[in-house]
Amino acid sequence: MVSGPSGAGKGTVIGLVRKALPNVVTSVSATTRAPRPGELDGLHYRFLSTADFRRAVAEGNFLEWVDYGGNLYGTLRADVEDKLAQGYDVVLEIELQGARVIRQTMPAATLIFVAPPSVDELARRLHGRATDTPKAIARRLEIAKAELAAEHEFDEVIVNDEPERAAAEVVAIMARRRTRETRHKGD
Ligand code: 5GP
Repeated sequence: MVSGPSGAGKGTVIGLVRKALPNVVTSVSATTRAPRPGELDGLHYRFLSTADFRRAVAEGNFLEWVDYGGNLYGTLRADVEDKLAQGYDVVLEIELQGARVIRQTMPAATLIFVAPPSVDELARRLHGRATDTPKAIARRLEIAKAELAAEHEFDEVIVNDEPERAAAEVVAIMARRRTRETRHKGD
């Protein structure tokens, strides 16, 4: 599971990891946030109304869900379980509160934190995205500072100074984990 502040480059890093490891897939989360230009329903997110999201919460359809910056986000249980059952390595790209829930409910998960090289660089990246309002960017920066303070809660911390290098680190972590699992099975 990969966490870290918005703007740290989690999405880019995971995209590179997927290219290197075909067995890795990402979970498609549900959100009430409006789609950004180019984002497709069912591919980047399941875009839900607040009422539909709340209904899914009541029905127990989420492994975890949060209110992040005024929008709801959640990991769909069925999506993750289906992909795991098909033999994929599933990567969740989620923020800190959700990561904490997953740590409790899925103790076997590896928690990777992707950090920006600095807060200034993070601010620059968030402003550069230009699809979010200044208010939304300010809110994301506030949340980011709290998330950075929690990086010690993770199994691994990767500084995304350069996406290819950061992705190679994630690939190495996953390979190490695989070896460990195989060894345990052989015990
Ligand atoms: P964005 O609006 O930039 O796509 O996502 C905002 C934040 O929500 C990012 O840190 C992203 O990783 C996180 N996020 C996306 N989907 C989920 C989810 O299902 N659960 C949780 N807890 N966080 C999510």
